[in-house]
Amino acid sequence: MELNILTLCYLIASVTFILGLKMLSNPLTARKGNLVAAFGMTVAIFATIFLYEDNGEKLHNYVWIFGGLLIGTVAGTLSAKKVKMTAMPEMVSLFNGMGGACAALISAAEFYHIYKLHEAAPETPFAELATVGHYITIVAGAIIGTISYTGSIIAWGKLNGRVKDFSFKGQHIVNMIVLVLVIAASVWAYQSNIGNIFLPFILIGFFAFIYGILFVMPIGGADMPVVISLLNSFTGVAAACGGFLYDNKAMLTGGILVGAAGTLLTILMCKAMNRSLTNVLIGSFGGNKNTAVAGATTPQGNYKEISLADAAMVMGYANKVMIVPGYGLAVAQAQHICHELEKILTEKGVEVNYAIHPVAGRMPGHMNVLLAEADVSYDKLMEMENANDEFKTTDVVLILGANDVVNPAAKNDPASPIYGMPILEVEQAKTVIVNKRSMKPGYAGIENDLFFQPKTSMLFGDAKKVLQDLCAEVKAI
Ligand code: NDP
Repeated sequence: MELNILTLCYLIASVTFILGLKMLSNPLTARKGNLVAAFGMTVAIFATIFLYEDNGEKLHNYVWIFGGLLIGTVAGTLSAKKVKMTAMPEMVSLFNGMGGACAALISAAEFYHIYKLHEAAPETPFAELATVGHYITIVAGAIIGTISYTGSIIAWGKLNGRVKDFSFKGQHIVNMIVLVLVIAASVWAYQSNIGNIFLPFILIGFFAFIYGILFVMPIGGADMPVVISLLNSFTGVAAACGGFLYDNKAMLTGGILVGAAGTLLTILMCKAMNRSLTNVLIGSFGGNKNTAVAGATTPQGNYKEISLADAAMVMGYANKVMIVPGYGLAVAQAQHICHELEKILTEKGVEVNYAIHPVAGRMPGHMNVLLAEADVSYDKLMEMENANDEFKTTDVVLILGANDVVNPAAKNDPASPIYGMPILEVEQAKTVIVNKRSMKPGYAGIENDLFFQPKTSMLFGDAKKVLQDLCAEVKAI
């Protein structure tokens, strides 16, 4: 009877994960979707704690379980409440790493479980105790989970600037050798006797640990979104392995959903960055960044500035204005005042839309989330392809804290580290106004030729302050 209730709870949890994920695809329902999936996860956790039975025995180590739950809940709630919107990607990376570590620990626990059951007969070959399928599930969970853990920690460090890009000559070969060593240690462990199993198993974890670091270390510049979503899918796959091991349907569904969603996102991000997935997998994309960046950071000439009053005039008398939001808008938390400017311009008869680049900001969908927070209508957001068609008939493009996603070097300069990445082709519009605080580069660390073009005028200042002043100026026209 209880087993049936448990299965029913897992079914409810699985359905809520799917519904939640579906609701996340629209900013209007995303918050509710998150709560729906969280509810399902709570049901799955408590059902497992109170209803799960192994050989007729229920879980009993409640102090450990609730101690862990309490620590995790307090740490998670406090950090989620404290985190700034712009630091969300770092937090997501960190949490993703924790998921990977959990999946790896589940595999280690299963390994230990098999060892404990047979430690009295140390000469027994491990291969006799676990089928190939069971073993591959254990080892895949350990390897993928560990790579996801170390890779995510490095990604976290890179996003907050603590870890710098690092690569060396022949790194691809070293990466491949480490991967081969992981596989060799896995084969060795499977063929070892139970009494000698620890060394090869520790080596599996060690080489996977090193691979996770080596794999993410050289990736930088504008390429991080791809690696972040890839690591996300790794954690999903590792969790699904845990679901197989414990025959836990909720964990299996959750893991498969994360793995599949992460993989799809990786493919979309690769498309957005114009990178091939094979290159991502061997940790080689970005090419020889160091030399390319050195060339690309040289200042490119003179730029001109525009006053607030002139910017307001140009926009107030335009027919069509396109706003290009970027990471700086999120830093300034200027989304509400940006919406205000949109409303003022619309009242004056100007058609205003937003051009959304898929990797603008610091996490997939960052700009959509940011603008949804300010109640900007979803109909006003144009995807990159549509926006690029629209620029030809646009009078004014207002760039708010965006840089890499409008950098023409991606189209024109084969030496640039972002060469090949599709961009918002803002220079097709009649006038381009760029708001940022200085001439400093964006995330990829490269100079932007757009700022020096004759059509472009710089409007320096913090996005929030500039937008507040612009609102007042446009109102006064
Ligand atoms: P960028 O990081 O290229 O540029 C942001 C610009 O905003 C900077 O040049 C900065 O210039 C300006 N800025 C910062 N603070 C403010 C402020 N308070 N007011 C006004 N301007 C400000 O951003 P983009 O959105 O154009 O591009 C995103 C980049 O991040 C891409 O390279 C992408 O690959 C990468 N990335 C994206 C991820 C994703 O999933 N979306 C994840 C990880 C990386 P200044 O200092 O002069 O003000």
